[in-house]
Amino acid sequence: MENIKDLKNILSYPKDVVIISHRNPDGDAIGSSMAFRYFLESFGHVVKVIYPSDYPNSFAFIKGIEDCLIYDSDPMKAEETIKKAGVIACLDFNSLDRIDKMGKIVGDSKATKILIDHHLDPEPFSDYELSETTASSTCELVYKFIQLMDEDRKLNTFISELLFIGLITDTGSFKYSTNPYTYEVASSLKKKGADDYKIQDLIHNTMSVKQVSLLGHCLANRMEIIPEYGTGIITLTRQDYEDFDIGRGDTEGIVNHILMMKGMNVAAFITEQPTIVKLSLRSKGDISVQDMARKYFNGGGHKNASGGALYSKLDTVVEKFKSVLPEFVEKK
Ligand code: 5GP
Ligand code: MN
Repeated sequence: MENIKDLKNILSYPKDVVIISHRNPDGDAIGSSMAFRYFLESFGHVVKVIYPSDYPNSFAFIKGIEDCLIYDSDPMKAEETIKKAGVIACLDFNSLDRIDKMGKIVGDSKATKILIDHHLDPEPFSDYELSETTASSTCELVYKFIQLMDEDRKLNTFISELLFIGLITDTGSFKYSTNPYTYEVASSLKKKGADDYKIQDLIHNTMSVKQVSLLGHCLANRMEIIPEYGTGIITLTRQDYEDFDIGRGDTEGIVNHILMMKGMNVAAFITEQPTIVKLSLRSKGDISVQDMARKYFNGGGHKNASGGALYSKLDTVVEKFKSVLPEFVEKK
């Protein structure tokens, strides 16, 4: 971000700021946007965080999250707020289709646009871009942004803990996607007083009985292993959604269990939604589920963690996944 000085000037007097993150916001989307909100509020800006769809209940512990706007629940208010914003910050996504109908409003807006993100191939819709695909998380980049702005003194314990959320969730608690700087950031946040044990506990040890039962159901009844491709698939039908009363966030992390088994390199979690079939893909090493998601499932993400969706039937999508697998994975 070479033109950071200009941005410092723009942000030096109070503005109406909107912070937007992606649909189905995850820990990194929520942690980064809430941290950025409190950082900007400390300069006197009036800040509104907007998510296209609601956040999982497991993040309800975050102070002030109830103030954010959900486009799905209140599109008029969200639209109005974006239209009067002088600055729009887009966090943890880099193409306008990731924020649904808000994409057009943001695209048309004359506001100063800031992008902070770690996904590949950013769309050129922003004026100021901090986009690094090697970053573990957008939270890591918000930390970097604060340093580039020379405002480390604004990083209090509370903001540090919010940033820790994305560091933890986007790296599977520092198991993947890390780089040396990630640990430096974690160290700095801890020095600022972030209680990482508390954050880990709040995020990971809060599953409901329903979620654990659903996980059991997925592993016992809905999992298929393709040993010759080191691949596992878990599917959920509309009926499963009804039977288990599955809500937002209840399926989070299920896909990762496949990669816990020896010899597994690719994991697919394929779910039947009201109008689409959604895929969550994970891989290890050089296998790129991102290429697969892009080429065959209208999606993308990261090399080892991607997603996509098709307007199709569940069985058809599963068959398609199996048929394209040999293009990305060597047969054992
Ligand atoms: P998840 O499987 O947890 O939903 O998503 C994993 C990663 O893939 C995330 O980084 C997310 O941004 C990306 N992703 C998930 N769904 C989609 C999608 O439909 N389109 C694109 N471009 N990326 C997606
Ligand atoms: Mn992220």
